[in-house]
Amino acid sequence: MAEKWSGAVRVADLNDFIAPSQACVVNLKGQKQSEEEQQGQAKDGLVQIQARKIDFPQVRKAATDEAIKVSLHDCLACSGCITSAETVMLQQQSTDEFVQRLSSATQAVVVSLSPQSRASLATHYGITPLQAFRKLTGFLKSLGVRAVFDTSCSRDLSLLESCQEFVDRYRKAAGNSATKQGELPMLASACPGWVCYAEKTHGQHILPHISSTKSPQQVMGTLVKRHACYRLGLRPEDIYHVTIMPCYDKKLEAARDDFIFAVDPGGGTGDSGQAGPRVTEVDSVLTSGEILDLLESRGVDFAALEEAPLDLMLSSVDEAGHVYGVRGGAGGYLETNFRHAARVLFGQTVEGPLQMKTLRNADFKEVSLEVDGKRVLHFAAAYGFRNIQNLVRKIKQGKCEYQFVEIMACPAGCLNGGGQIKPRKGQTAKDLIQHLEAAYLHEVTVRDPADNPLVQELYRTWLGGPYSENARSLLHTQYHERERTVTASISNW
Ligand code: SF4
Ligand code: SF4
Repeated sequence: MAEKWSGAVRVADLNDFIAPSQACVVNLKGQKQSEEEQQGQAKDGLVQIQARKIDFPQVRKAATDEAIKVSLHDCLACSGCITSAETVMLQQQSTDEFVQRLSSATQAVVVSLSPQSRASLATHYGITPLQAFRKLTGFLKSLGVRAVFDTSCSRDLSLLESCQEFVDRYRKAAGNSATKQGELPMLASACPGWVCYAEKTHGQHILPHISSTKSPQQVMGTLVKRHACYRLGLRPEDIYHVTIMPCYDKKLEAARDDFIFAVDPGGGTGDSGQAGPRVTEVDSVLTSGEILDLLESRGVDFAALEEAPLDLMLSSVDEAGHVYGVRGGAGGYLETNFRHAARVLFGQTVEGPLQMKTLRNADFKEVSLEVDGKRVLHFAAAYGFRNIQNLVRKIKQGKCEYQFVEIMACPAGCLNGGGQIKPRKGQTAKDLIQHLEAAYLHEVTVRDPADNPLVQELYRTWLGGPYSENARSLLHTQYHERERTVTASISNW
């Protein structure tokens, strides 16, 4: 059963790590070693990873069916390998469970689709993302799903909260020294792979820097279970909420205790303590690849399916079929924060695409804003664990010069997530990413999240304004230092 959750590798010989949620992020050189070398290294404490016969970029160089050795000194405790307890939890977030829930007499199933998964399905089937969204809506509704929403709109809320939080931190850091500890740099929080790694490995050195803003998935969970349910005539506990995401790490995020709340019997949207039933914001996460498996297991000719009308209650598609979004397959946190901070803090409007400067590799870039010859804003994007490691080291040494960093665990960001549909036979990973990037913005009108009328209405009628007390209570979270795992405690970094 554990293999069901395996992306491309299977860990053996390490008692509590039995089912990886994605390919190991460590660069596996795949060089065949002699038995002697292998035995020698095994004594030094190595994680053994067994490659399966799946074409996967991170392990392609390795011969399949051979054990690949990852030194525990290389292991990044990224949660790519998950514990047995986590595996049990993940088994509850499966397509089988999803199908079973569809016949529930007591709960309505609601699905929220991420734009990265939309692009993945569109690219795989050679159709437009909007067609993929409409066809998937039709398919899911034919199974009995009550509504299919779009996490692009919850991402807009997450982006706006993040922008306000950054300005707040910037002002605190510029003011009283008693309040500036840990305010800057602010580190993006939308990637659970990165958050999990920081909690397990760096604790209080790094956690205060991580933005408290919930990810688009969890903002959607809040929206569905604390707001939209009432508009659907349902109570929070009447909904089984499933998201479709580009990675397995999102399953771990959905299962965090921080994202379970007690329903207010009086109908309020806050956490009422112990009064009502305890409800999970997102009950299950399915990856793009798992949706493909579901379609194929039922023999569905997806490209030939009818396109169904979309549910526009929580969507970034308007009635005329225009799709709105932001640039950046990782959610647009750097770009949106940069433009917002330039405008609010320095009265500068940044026109056109940002002039990003590539640093040591394509996954590490920076951008700055100068006013009167002085650099006033300095932001960066760091994707992949090697870049994250370097950045974290600088923060710990007090040498990080950035005010904001968009951190993502996957090289190339979420479009390259471990749960995305794999390249077709003969297609390279690089080629697939290029297609995904094109699909992600295909027919998308780039819009400032603040101009999203749906978000404006939610702030006006429900949240009480960006970063208001109510918004901070509902759309923000906290992080916890975790007990070090075997992998994290062996390595001293
Ligand atoms: S926890 Fe370590 S061995 Fe497992 S995927 Fe992450 S880096 Fe690789
Ligand atoms: S960067 Fe990767 S692990 Fe992180 S949220 Fe995106 S797809 Fe998931």
